[in-house]
Amino acid sequence: EKSETLTSEQIVELTRKHNYGTWRFQKGWNPMHIVDAEGCYIVDGKGKRYLDFSAQLMCSNLGHKNQVVIDAIAKQAQQLSYAMPGYATEVRAELSKLLVEVLPAGLSKFFFTTSGTEANEAAFKIARMYTGKTKIIARYRSYHGSTTGSIAATGDPRRWAMEPGGKGPGVIFGPEVNCYKCPIRHTYPGCGIACADYLEHMIRNESDVAAVLIEPVVGTNGVLVPPDEYMPKLRKICDEYGVLLIADEVMSGWGRTGEWFAMNHWGVVPDILTTAKGITGAYVPLGLCATSGKIADFFEDHYFAHGHTYEAHPMTLAPAVAAIREMQRMDLVARAKGLEPYLRGKLEELKAKHPSVGDVRGKGLFWAVDLVKNRTTKEPFGTYSDKVAGRPLLVDQIAGKILADGVTIQAWVSHFIIAPPLIITKVQIDFGIDALDRHLSIADALVEG
Ligand code: PLP
Repeated sequence: EKSETLTSEQIVELTRKHNYGTWRFQKGWNPMHIVDAEGCYIVDGKGKRYLDFSAQLMCSNLGHKNQVVIDAIAKQAQQLSYAMPGYATEVRAELSKLLVEVLPAGLSKFFFTTSGTEANEAAFKIARMYTGKTKIIARYRSYHGSTTGSIAATGDPRRWAMEPGGKGPGVIFGPEVNCYKCPIRHTYPGCGIACADYLEHMIRNESDVAAVLIEPVVGTNGVLVPPDEYMPKLRKICDEYGVLLIADEVMSGWGRTGEWFAMNHWGVVPDILTTAKGITGAYVPLGLCATSGKIADFFEDHYFAHGHTYEAHPMTLAPAVAAIREMQRMDLVARAKGLEPYLRGKLEELKAKHPSVGDVRGKGLFWAVDLVKNRTTKEPFGTYSDKVAGRPLLVDQIAGKILADGVTIQAWVSHFIIAPPLIITKVQIDFGIDALDRHLSIADALVEG
């Protein structure tokens, strides 16, 4: 199909030739040409429609072509398309008021960015300025963004690429919470949440610790949901040692887990919460670093040494106001919670049927389907090292088959992430699950033992 001047093939070729494909070898990158999107579907250059089963990068929470958000963008562009961050604007005031309503109680002072990684960079600087300390304790199975500070605080192997120049300053890694494959080989609930105890051990044995950084529900690294005792315990540890708790809700926020923010599941308020993605339903790039009143008070008479040209850019804020109001109007947080048992049931069925499915886990409309070669050893079908060595991963092969059946799904190393727009219906869930069901046989055939 033709655009005005370019054919679909030319569009793909120009994109490929002049742009970097991310987290991959450039050779072999054949980007799909997308021309349209509506609701839970995207449409390619040949007019084929796909169910968007991972909401693009777990961010298009409202679905595509929401007219209220589109109108808000147009209206803001007409009225005031840019104002430097030193100014007050109506949209900034309006969004701030709305955020105080929906964020965990007490998070009331904001720094706006244009991405999740920048929100984390702001969080690290704020934590370091506030505490006068340097170290951030992060966890191995985590992703916090690709810029220098955030990638240094990223526990997963995407960090390795920046390490030849020396590790990022002041970050140390502790164990993630992962009850399927516990990194310290404990078994819940007999463990007494030993992974949190280990973080305490680290705090006690390190000097100069500013903050503990967590994804409350770990995203790309496999939708790891902590047991209910974990978060209150971690909050208590942080309070005891005067260490800040930073919750990275870039992916887990905005209704994804069936609460406005994942931290709400445990009634725990972090000192700093960062987010992005779903804040505008991904209609425009916006990130947020939200801090507590005590941190806000500190900067009344301490210099706030941070800023961006596009901080609080009106064009990023107007769609956020509209997206949050749309979430409220459609009651999408409750919808995500309400659909959880249905999706869980479907995934449990997949697990019962396919020996290659080692685990299914999640919350709300945020799930992982974890593939293993062997249910006893839990050995995955591939590793990140395979990816950087250019060895094809089985999950990518299966995702390709699923795509041909009209469903886009995110695959990462040895698992799939199911995180559809929160407006998804049961019929659409069935369509996505059926596509997975059809092609998991490829993995089943490779199961050992
Ligand atoms: N933090 C988490 C938990 C994420 O999942 C991501 C992106 O996937 C980021 C931070 C980085 O956000 P961005 O890609 O907007 O910089």
